[in-house]
Amino acid sequence: TCGFVAIVGRPNVGKSTLMNRILGQKVSITSRRPQTTRHQVMGIKTEDDAQFIYVDTPGMHIMSKDRNKAINHFMNQAATQALRDVDCVVFIIDRTRWSDEDQAVLKRLEHVKAPVILAVNKVDRLQDKATLLPWLSEVGARRDFAAIVPISAKHGTQVDTLEEEVAKYL
Ligand code: GDP
Ligand code: MG
Repeated sequence: TCGFVAIVGRPNVGKSTLMNRILGQKVSITSRRPQTTRHQVMGIKTEDDAQFIYVDTPGMHIMSKDRNKAINHFMNQAATQALRDVDCVVFIIDRTRWSDEDQAVLKRLEHVKAPVILAVNKVDRLQDKATLLPWLSEVGARRDFAAIVPISAKHGTQVDTLEEEVAKYL
């Protein structure tokens, strides 16, 4: 089986770190899109019985700034198009903060039919672990997520659990 997985989230939330962590040494393809300052990166991970194609989706965050620029329109179109055909979306947010940009990304996912898995990243930086559960239930109420997984992309914590959740939708 073969599955397309889109990794979405506002800038700096850890998309590239997660992708590198998941793909490890097994990166087959990386590609840059010229003409834009933002790169779309794609990677393939092959396991015994499955192949995952990960796409670090650009253009999801260009909601409010420079709305009128043609390039932004194009990027938004490309991002929307990319999400139409995926089997699964991994939506990454930070461990402590829900911003307008996160909200904007979530709004872009409104019409996505594929399951959306929420990855709450950077939990290694949590000061007080007790704040995590209430936070998860708060953000978890914003959409009917297929799963909610706290992770540390940087340290690899629970990334395997996230991958298991993704694998359910191939
Ligand atoms: P992107 O813009 O969403 O692709 O985010 P990046 O993957 O480039 O990460 C942005 C910053 O957050 C970088 O400095 C990363 O090292 C850092 N970062 C990403 N994941 C984690 C994590 O799990 N824990 C910590 N402490 N930092 C992280
Ligand atoms: Mg990135």
